[in-house]
Amino acid sequence: MFEMLRVLTKPAIRRRSHNFFVNSASVIASVDLRPSRSFSSHQGGNMDPKKFALPARYQGQEKSVWVEYIQLALETKPLNLGQGFPDYAPPAYVTQALSDVATGDNVLLNQYTRGFGHPRLVAALSRLYSQLVRRPIDSQTEILVTSGAYEALFSTIQGHVGPGDEVVIIEPYFDCYEPMVLTAGGKPIFVPLRPKKTESGVKSTSSADWVLDPDELSSAFNDRTKAIILNTPHNPVGKVFSKKELTLIADLCLRWDALCISDEVYEWLVYPPNEHIRIATLPGMWERTITIGSAGKTFSVTGWKLGWAYGPASLMTNLQLVHQNCVYTCPTPIQEAVARGFELELGRLDSPECFFKSLPAELEAKRDLMANFLADVGMVPTIPQGGYFMIADWSPLASKVPLNQEKDKWKDYRFTKWMSRNLKLQGIPPSAFYCADHKPLGEDFVRYCFIKKDENLHEAAKILKKWKGSSL
Ligand code: PMP
Ligand code: GLN
Repeated sequence: MFEMLRVLTKPAIRRRSHNFFVNSASVIASVDLRPSRSFSSHQGGNMDPKKFALPARYQGQEKSVWVEYIQLALETKPLNLGQGFPDYAPPAYVTQALSDVATGDNVLLNQYTRGFGHPRLVAALSRLYSQLVRRPIDSQTEILVTSGAYEALFSTIQGHVGPGDEVVIIEPYFDCYEPMVLTAGGKPIFVPLRPKKTESGVKSTSSADWVLDPDELSSAFNDRTKAIILNTPHNPVGKVFSKKELTLIADLCLRWDALCISDEVYEWLVYPPNEHIRIATLPGMWERTITIGSAGKTFSVTGWKLGWAYGPASLMTNLQLVHQNCVYTCPTPIQEAVARGFELELGRLDSPECFFKSLPAELEAKRDLMANFLADVGMVPTIPQGGYFMIADWSPLASKVPLNQEKDKWKDYRFTKWMSRNLKLQGIPPSAFYCADHKPLGEDFVRYCFIKKDENLHEAAKILKKWKGSSL
């Protein structure tokens, strides 16, 4: 078929056919398909590699830690504590809802739905977030349902950032922020969270010790600043930004008339006494904040790839435009099932049975289990206040790892690859979450995910304990 289309569109071939304008069937019958010596090399099937090189706007973005480490896991078959997803079943009511929707009487639920969000889902999101941000959120104009939080970030950045715009990104950062800003023509301005100095010999630290220098943050803002990307609870550090820290960010947004893109996909995964504060609730911030969420994190169904963004209609129209011309509409059965999930939880938000309360309670025990076994082996874990990742400083163990066996530039890549191949335990190298100039800041760390079955966390502990006892 492809060959036929090519034949019909190549002028050189047309000239060889006397019957071209009769009808397409006879054209095909009469064309000599053998390669001709008189064609240039492109017409012989080879495409000019220069002409088909990666467009400039994507150059420099070839490396992805996810692509690389998922491939590595396929090859080394480790106990995978790398990519963030639960290795156990999501709540039965959401998976049951999906099954009911797909096979139920309302067959139209298997067809396209409203482009900016399925009516039942945007109604549920509006009920939920109107309570949480303490203002009415219009389900039709102030919410956009997206293909995962990834697409919410993409539509926000594409819809609001243009050439010359500067976007402040707090490091470490979820790795797609940087390429998304660059592709939109923007300029990322990086400001790192820095761990407070700790005394030697400490067994663990807290994500609360990773802080922004207020002067450094302030000096990143100017007239060209279009936006700041905030992520709380934070991936990979697990930091839950305090009211004071959020107020500093909010004040800068107000002073420099900047947008706040608030990635809150781990909004329900917060460990006491910490509390998740939505920056959109701070004075003057609703008008300049787009908040992003994910059904994948909310209901432990990362493979469903459903997310959303909410904010004032005046800002949301730009996202809707990006979305309508690339995704247009997200899967109806998934949206319906997530809507039913929210409806159930909306009826028990204050009860301990609410999944948004029971999941963090379950995860807190897993977090503590992981922190203990990492400290036991000699790493220094940063205890996260939220999310389901833990970073740990592995440098006290550097002498036990033959780092020169791996070729990568950054030590954390070499450490994690060596571990994956030799100990069959996989983590993620945090330097992936820093810009090129700041990668050394992440090199002494590894990120592990703890939303895993207890037996797998115990297995990881066993692997590390055995390694500690060995002479490797
Ligand atoms: N933001 C952060 C901070 C994340 O960790 C992730 C990972 N899933 C995403 C956004 C993307 O979420 P989704 O899978 O819903 O696209
Ligand atoms: N957010 C998840 C993580 O940080 C998954 C990322 C991904 O698959 N791209 O591990």
